[in-house]
Parts: sequence; structure tokens; C-alpha cells
Amino acid sequence: MQTAKNLGEYRSELREALSDDFLRKAMDNFAVAYRVSREKAFAGMDIEAVVQAIATAKDNAVARMDELYAEFKQKAEAAGATVHLAKTAGEANELVASIARKAGVKRVLKSKSMTAEETHLNHHLEAAGLEVTETDLGEFIIQLRGEGPTHMVMPAIHLSRYEVADLFADVTKKKQDSEIEKLVKVARRELRAKFNQAEMGVSGANFAISETGTLAVLTNEGNARLTATLPRVHVFMVGLDKLTPTVEDALTAIRGLPRNATGQAITSYVSWITGPAQCAAAPGGKKELHIILLDNGRSAIAKDPLFAQALRCVRCGACANVCPVYRMVGGHKYGHVYIGAIGLILTYFYHGRDKAKNLVQNCINCGACKAVCIAGIDLPRLIKEVYARIQDEEGHSLPNAMLGRVLQNRSLFHGLLRAAKLVQRPVTGGTPYLRHLPQFFARDHGFRALPAIAEKPFRDMWPALKPRVDAPKASVALFAGCVQDFVYPEQAVAMVKVLAAGGAAVEFPMGQSCCGLPVEMMGEKKAARDVAVQNIKALDPAVFDYIVCGCASCASHLKKAYPRLLADDPGLALTAQRFADKVIDFSSFVRDVLGMDAESFKNDAVQTAYHSPCHLCRGLGVTKPPRELIAMAGQYAPAAEEDVCCGFGGTYSSKFPEVSAEILAKKLSHVEAAGAARLVTDCPGCVMQLRGGMEKRGAGTVVRHIAEVLAENLKG
Ligand code: SF4
Ligand code: SF4
Repeated sequence: MQTAKNLGEYRSELREALSDDFLRKAMDNFAVAYRVSREKAFAGMDIEAVVQAIATAKDNAVARMDELYAEFKQKAEAAGATVHLAKTAGEANELVASIARKAGVKRVLKSKSMTAEETHLNHHLEAAGLEVTETDLGEFIIQLRGEGPTHMVMPAIHLSRYEVADLFADVTKKKQDSEIEKLVKVARRELRAKFNQAEMGVSGANFAISETGTLAVLTNEGNARLTATLPRVHVFMVGLDKLTPTVEDALTAIRGLPRNATGQAITSYVSWITGPAQCAAAPGGKKELHIILLDNGRSAIAKDPLFAQALRCVRCGACANVCPVYRMVGGHKYGHVYIGAIGLILTYFYHGRDKAKNLVQNCINCGACKAVCIAGIDLPRLIKEVYARIQDEEGHSLPNAMLGRVLQNRSLFHGLLRAAKLVQRPVTGGTPYLRHLPQFFARDHGFRALPAIAEKPFRDMWPALKPRVDAPKASVALFAGCVQDFVYPEQAVAMVKVLAAGGAAVEFPMGQSCCGLPVEMMGEKKAARDVAVQNIKALDPAVFDYIVCGCASCASHLKKAYPRLLADDPGLALTAQRFADKVIDFSSFVRDVLGMDAESFKNDAVQTAYHSPCHLCRGLGVTKPPRELIAMAGQYAPAAEEDVCCGFGGTYSSKFPEVSAEILAKKLSHVEAAGAARLVTDCPGCVMQLRGGMEKRGAGTVVRHIAEVLAENLKG
């Protein structure tokens, strides 16, 4: 697969993918259908328990990799196989080629193996003069097209049946019907002849079980079984991460793997292979069986305290299925060989920094992959860490380093925002938006109207605004974040009004600054840490009962990232945890702590759709309180995919505006289809994206922060 040299080149590739209507439709249909079938497949099961069991079993196996390899080798060889260890991709490929040479093999059959994709085995064998045929239908199709897979489980998902019919017509020199069943028959006919002729089969395996020396293979097409049965020589190529201590551990993973991959309770075929089988084509009637266990960096990852969890991956592909970016651009632009969130991480380790450095920036940090991962891998965090590592290795880019410096100095940051307010005047035209932007900027970023910096930041309003609350229920430090403070101060004003009405004594500590999430996203770890320290000092957890935040992204970052960022600081680790324990989002605080209910609000009966911010629903697990509050102050009008990202992602929307625009367009269409006159959310970043998009569409739907709607409808 080609790799873009820089971000500019990568972005033009993304634009190309975005203009592929079939790809977009196929991805879209699949994303919607996948959610439904996954839910059905897990119905009645405790998914969290399944995730926990898989994570524990995999962590145990990864920690014992060397020991399991030795045990597996001993058991598999006792059963008659030959086990090889390949340190690198090149070594693995050469092993397969030399086994073929020694056995006088000319034709090789392959069944789907991501490990063989990783090593680019086909190229190697073809260069050695062997004929290689992929036997999985999707792999067969992409092999004929000379492409790599676009999904780990469904490699040809990007192609229409018409494209496949044309391709098969070229191969068979006969016009082909585009009916899917007929196309499958054509492939079967073509492949049967190959099955009869091949002398060697190569396949991957899902598990290499060390207690028995068994390989377990899960497939839906039966081709893996034929590949491993008919030819006289067979080679399994398996990553060291597939070593599994017991059959029971493999069964634990099988409870989750097919359900998470394709929404099936179990795949059509589950094969367990121990030692070489009888084979009529083999001299002596017994197959020659080789098992190559590939390291290619895995044993080093296993020793990395943070990245070892990446080896839990069971290759279900679900992290791609739910990823809003993958849904827009497809796998050829969202991975190198491995696709989706895990692909962004593994590409760096298995294929190197050059292949990973553009890809890894194309993550909007929505957390959908983490929420669906059946192995419980913290994928967004690892993606950020890979980006930070790449920057540490290559040098930090100027914009990232500059933003890091600016955010570390609160006075400078706020001074720049105040200066921007003055500079923007010629481009606002007296409106709350930046209207007259230079053409080159508007071309990419014109999909949403950008808000102007507010005339007066919230911090300047605060002294005159601070309400007096007698006998308060709780003392609250309000964390506004930079957007509410400098762009939408009216949201913070509304929050104060609601909090005071609910009986909270509110304070706005002036020493607070940006939460630090943007710099963490940019790989500026030191700046992220410094900002965390500033905020913890400003909003002293010893002084306040709660730290309330009206920005979902800030709240999630303050609560989840601060303890992690300061974990190794003996002087601050405990305080950071105390601070995090007190952080709560605005909706949960109003509903669950202050206990505000339908009696607290008038109902204005406005049809109101809700956008559930990624960092609220997945980051903090908050789903009910905002919807309940909306129903108290208006008429809740559910929209499709409320919890799917709006495409903002902070700096993401400036770096990849073309992707951001498409994600936003889908979101706004869902809101319009819900017939809502008002769209409410609880994150100022989402408000910026959604309101800007609605403004550009000229749609009548107003976009509000939930606090504004509640404040307007307060009784009394
Ligand atoms: S965090 Fe969201 S955008 Fe990033 S890889 Fe995961 S699903 Fe995709
Ligand atoms: S990272 Fe998780 S969701 Fe993605 S393929 Fe691996 S196991 Fe599946």
C-alpha cells in the first residue's frame, strides 16, 4: 500500500475517498447494520464481564509469551508439526519460501491471514516464482485487483457487486452477471481448480493453544479448512500474540469474538488442528505441517507497560466498524495493513513511523472504538501515545510546540484571546460569526460558520454576576474551559443561574485555564501536565464540594486524564485524584446532586433533539440526566445516532476539515429528520460545530447548550 509523504498528500487522498459515493454508501449501510446485529448478538449477555474475561486471559498470555512459546513448540512438535520462530517479517517470508522450495512446491493456496498480510507474504512468494492464490472470497477479489484489505474481517467491503462482476469478467474472459450468488459461484469454480492443483496451503490462526499444541481457526467460508486439508504441505503463520495457555482461554475469547466482529453467535466453521492430518496427496499419506510464530516486534510490545494491552487484540475489526472517520474514508485510508483504531497503533510498531505518522493524526478522539473493543483496549489513549512518541522521535511540529508554550502560560493565552477579539472586528460584520475569511481558508473550513470571540469573557463578567445563595446545598467551583470563557460566556452565565436556583454556592476561580486536552491531543505531554497542575491549584479540591463543568470534553479530561498525567508525581498524585473525584458534568450535577426536576422548570414544548457528546456518553458514561432534563424543559425528539460524534474533535476539525464536514453533515441530517426545532447538547465545542453547520445550511434549527434552555425555563 502506498503511503502519503506528508499530511497535505494524505488529505488529498482522504478527499478522493470522500468523493467515492459507493464507498460512502457501503460504509454507511454497514455501520448502521453492524450496531443492530451486535446488539442482538450480545442480547442477555453481560458484555462487560466478557470484555473483562478476555482482557484478563490475554494479559496473562502476553505476560507469559516466552513460556507459552516453549510449551506450544514442545506440544505441537510432539504431535508431529515443525514449529519455527521468525523474528522479523522478512524471516517469516523466507521460511515459507524455503519450506516450499524444499518440498518442490509450485502452487500455494492461501486462506485469510492478517499476519501474512503484515509480512507481505504474497509478494515474497511470487518473487520467488511461486503461484499464490487467495481462497477467501474477499481476499481473492482484492488479490485480483492488486489491493490490500479495507477491513480486517471484510477485506472487499469497499467494492460493489458490479465492480466485482467486471473484474470476474476480465479474469474469465466472459461477461458475468452481477447477482451476488452467481458471482460466488464464479469464484468457487475458479478456485476449485486451484484447490486441486496446489501443493501447499498457508493460513493464519486465531489461537495457538500451548497446553495442546493446537491451532484454532474461525471462518465463515470453509476455505481455510480446505486449504489446510487438501495440499500435501501446510504452513500456519501466526503472531506470537495468538499464543493462548488453554482451550478454555480460547473459548472465553470465542464467546466475544464473532459476536463483536459480525454479530454472529459463532462463525460457520471453527477448526481445531493438532498435528498433521492424513493426506492422500502426501508421500507416506501424512501431511507436512509447519507452524511459524512471528515476532516482528511483539515480544518488545509485550514488555511495554502501556502498549502491551495492544496485544490483547483478537482482530474482530469492531474498532473500525464504529469509527466515524473510518466510516467516511474506508480502510485504505484508515490503516496500512491493519485497519481501524488498532491499525493506527500497530502500523507504527509493525510497519514503522513513516507509515504511521499521518494516519495517527486522523483520530477524532471520540472513544467509540474503546467502548466497543471486546478486549478492553484503551485505543484512543494508545493512539495519542503513538503520536506523542512519533513527535518525540522526529521533533515536535512548530504549531504543536507553539500551542504547548502558549497554553502553559495562562496570562499569555488569555492575552492572545483578548487581542484576537480586537483583530477579528473587520471580519465579523457585526455578527457573532467570522464572516469574511480569506478564500484559501474558507475553501476548506467554510462548511461551518466560525464563532467570533465574545466581546466580554465570562471571567470579566463574574464579579458582577456572582449570586448569593443562602444555606447552600453544596459549594461549587465552576470550570468553564476556554470556549465558554471566551467564546460563549452566555453558556456559563446560564449555568450559574441554574446552579444558584438549585441551591449551589458557585465560585469561579480566576486562576483556571484551558483543560489541556488540545495539547495532549497534539502529543505535547509536558504542556498537558503543566496545565493540569495549574488547574488543580486554581480549583483546590480541599475548598470545594464539587467541580462542575459544562464542557463534556473538559470534564472528561479533568476527571480521567489528570490522575494519569500526575500519577508519577508523589507531591500531586493524591491531590489530582481528589480533584478528579470532585469533577462532575453540569447535567448530572443538576439532576442527580441538586435533584432539580420537572417542578423546577417550565416546559416550553419545543421539539428538541439531543446530541450526546462523545466525552459525556462514552468518556463519563453519562446518558440519562441530559435527556431527562430536556424532557422537563421541552419535548424530547429522539434523533438517529445521537451518540455518534459531531465531527468537531477540537483541533481535529481544523486539521481534517473535509472529514469533519462529512461527519457533521450526517449528524445535522439526522437532527432534521427528527423534526426538531431545537438541538441541545452539553459541550460548547459541539455547539460550535453544530451551530456553525446549521448556520451554513440556513436551517431553522437553533443550537443551544443545555444550560441555556434550562435557565430560560427556570420557574420563579
Ligand atoms: S477514537 Fe474515534 S476517531 Fe479515533 S480511532 Fe477511535 S473510533 Fe476512530
Ligand atoms: S482492538 Fe479491540 S475492537 Fe479492534 S480489532 Fe482488536 S479486539 Fe477488535
